[in-house]
Amino acid sequence: MVMEMFEKGYIDGNYVRVSRDELFSFVVKVLTKLGVSKEDAEIVADNLIMADLRGIESHGVQRLKRYVDGILSGGINLKPNIRIVREGPSYALVDGDEGLGQVVGYKAMKLAIEKAKRSGIGVVVVRNSNHYGIAGYYALMAAKEKMVGISMTNSRPLVAPTGGVERFLGTNPISIAAPTKGKPFLLDMATSVVPIGKLEVYRRKGKPIPEGWAIDKEGNVTIEVEDVFNGGALLPLGGFGELFGGHKGYGLSVMVDILAGILSGGTWSKHVKNTSDKGSNVCHFFMAINIEAFVPLEEFEEKMSRMIEELKSSRKHRDFERIWIHGEKGFLTEETRLKIGIPIYKKVLEELNEIADSLKIERLKV
Ligand code: NDP
Repeated sequence: MVMEMFEKGYIDGNYVRVSRDELFSFVVKVLTKLGVSKEDAEIVADNLIMADLRGIESHGVQRLKRYVDGILSGGINLKPNIRIVREGPSYALVDGDEGLGQVVGYKAMKLAIEKAKRSGIGVVVVRNSNHYGIAGYYALMAAKEKMVGISMTNSRPLVAPTGGVERFLGTNPISIAAPTKGKPFLLDMATSVVPIGKLEVYRRKGKPIPEGWAIDKEGNVTIEVEDVFNGGALLPLGGFGELFGGHKGYGLSVMVDILAGILSGGTWSKHVKNTSDKGSNVCHFFMAINIEAFVPLEEFEEKMSRMIEELKSSRKHRDFERIWIHGEKGFLTEETRLKIGIPIYKKVLEELNEIADSLKIERLKV
């Protein structure tokens, strides 16, 4: 039953389907019309569409409007001087010069991979960037080169620390990817219970949010999405208080601020601004680990695959049809969507059409 869901890619009447190539060329057209180079526009499009292909609706083309607004307001620098501030054989500090986060992130991860090829390990920290989309995009770049990849970013304040009500932390995602004999392992997650993009999806659909995702401005756990947008906050991974480990998600989020924000000489979530604001100062952390520096690649991949098989064939709970491994649902979803198209929520389609009309380019073909 669950596999059928993935293979058929069921959608309801609120969605339309668009082919990957059509969506890709639409995003590129929008961005190039705004003055982004074709090369950079393709990086952004690839990142957004990877999210949509993998079923991460919160970080796909529904985000395009934000980048358009960021470009129009001058918050995003279209011709950034992305430069290495300091470097050694295995590390570098990069200044993103307020460029598109995806472009800065792509270049920084490429640099980390190059360094890992030569030195066994490559760590690149970045300051003065912008929202970079899904963290997994960059971790996967390393896994495709048969390395372990790690990617993190801080983001604007939306999450209250355990014991607090104020938005202080970002939803600061962490991703790690590693090659196996089959598809890579790919953990890609916010350090909050959910990213804000998921609330935006619920808001668009006019649905209440599940209890335990967020608090209102007084600190009451709420199911009203508007409470969160009106001064409330998201909860860290693990939820409210300490009982289910909220303090651990809080700690992971601070870890991202240390590695991405403070280590880069940038800033921490509390002071990170929206992509449409000048000087948002989003900071990233990338690491590539050359497996061959530690163990033969063959052995690593074989053990990865064996561990995954053992995990998946371990005894299942009666309420679950199967045990998944991180990244697996995303790869299955991607396979189906490449064949039958990507579902786009109709309200998102309207927004994309408005962007097209305002820029006098052709609307998305659905
Ligand atoms: P999810 O909760 O959807 O998924 C988290 C991870 O768990 C994924 O690797 C997913 O793999 C995996 N997974 C899902 N179900 C299972 C299961 N049953 N067993 C094992 N693994 C499972 O992610 P989030 O909602 O937390 O984050 C969504 C995206 O938002 C991420 O890509 C993140 O990088 C991005 N984000 C970006 C931010 C930014 O500022 N740039 C801020 C916050 C988040 P699979 O993909 O296969 O489902």
